[in-house]
Amino acid sequence: MNKKKLSLTSQIFIGLLLGLVLGVAVHYWLPDGYFKNTILINGIFQLFGTGFMRLMQMLVVPLVFFSIVTGAMSIGDTKRLGKVGLKTLGLYIVTTALAIVISLSFSQLTNPGVGLNLSQVKTAETEIATASQKGMDMVLEIIPKNPIESLSSGNMLQIIFFALFLGVILASLGNHVPVITRFMNEANEVMMSMTFHVMKIAPIGVFALIAKTFSDIGFDGFLPMLKYMLTVLGGLGIQLFLVYGLLLFIFTKTNPLVFFKQFSSVLGFAFSTASSGATVPVNIQTLEDMGVSKKISSFTIPLGATINMDGTAIMQGVAVIFVAQAFGIHLDLADFMTVIGTATMASIGTAAVPGVGLITLAMVFNSVGLPVEGIGIIMGIDRVLDMARTAVNCSGDAVVTTIVAHQEKLFNKDKLYQAKPDNDDDDYDNLDNVEI
Ligand code: ASP
Repeated sequence: MNKKKLSLTSQIFIGLLLGLVLGVAVHYWLPDGYFKNTILINGIFQLFGTGFMRLMQMLVVPLVFFSIVTGAMSIGDTKRLGKVGLKTLGLYIVTTALAIVISLSFSQLTNPGVGLNLSQVKTAETEIATASQKGMDMVLEIIPKNPIESLSSGNMLQIIFFALFLGVILASLGNHVPVITRFMNEANEVMMSMTFHVMKIAPIGVFALIAKTFSDIGFDGFLPMLKYMLTVLGGLGIQLFLVYGLLLFIFTKTNPLVFFKQFSSVLGFAFSTASSGATVPVNIQTLEDMGVSKKISSFTIPLGATINMDGTAIMQGVAVIFVAQAFGIHLDLADFMTVIGTATMASIGTAAVPGVGLITLAMVFNSVGLPVEGIGIIMGIDRVLDMARTAVNCSGDAVVTTIVAHQEKLFNKDKLYQAKPDNDDDDYDNLDNVEI
């Protein structure tokens, strides 16, 4: 009975491909009716897809909370934590600004909106809220007035703030609070184990999510928008393989191919859920398997999922050029600088859930006087791009985390080169020894 088991990563990719094929087949070949719409798409696919996504979402708040507390507890030193925090923040902002510069320049080459004269076209009504939160409020908002409320509403920045504070205080109290300290460590182990078990059904969840998406949308509407879509995908590819690859190589001397091979299950997961928030537990766990200590990833990954969205910024840069060209609006250098600034801010303000990048895009459009109606044109095909950019958003968090962990001597590269691209049962036999 020694059958060779497929790794979880391979299973996730098989689920993804099967979901794509089945979804497209259902969309084009199965006639509309009770079986297709009620039983299949809004029944089975919805049940397993959304059910799996909700299971992952269920884990995010407690996992993030306990892993940050225990991570901060084990580092203990506030100066070191502050240094790690500032370095991470700096890298997140720099990589996002770089992403927009790349997408603006790349779009100048491909001209995604040229030939689409939309200046006279009346576009679909869009309900876009203008996100105009002032900088000061944003900073103050990080301090929770009521941490219980932050936990219950899932306000990630407030949870990070409170958990870091609590972890540092527990470390300083040391032997005076053995029960609470032990409780935090044990609760963290429990959450890790729950994540591991939920991940086991990821292939089915991913299959159902992708099948539902493609049986809903098919490929309709892709053709007229092909240039725009390919430009966004091209920009995402450059960021993923060139920018992140180079950063990894330069700062950690890691072979990017090995890194991304081990990381591919996170890519598949982010792609199918289109939610960096739901991907947090998988991202932290996979990085741990790749040798990146949870002491760092426990707070840089949730922080990144909240404020670092390089993929979203790339889509926004391309959308700016697309709409400007399609509506015949000239943008000068000052406008480009404004776009770089506002899209970086928008990336910080974009929630880590599907589709929000399109909403914060209104803020970017407003800053340079582009018609917000332009967003209506790209809305129809945004879901697929949302999936792709979420994969890049999560990779950006992981790459920065790996660099910071490397500089803090908390990246065990040997583990990366030996790692199986999988969570294996054996890993959890050693749960007692897990160093967080
Ligand atoms: N879906 C993206 C994420 O969760 C955000 C977006 O660009 O809409 O990272």
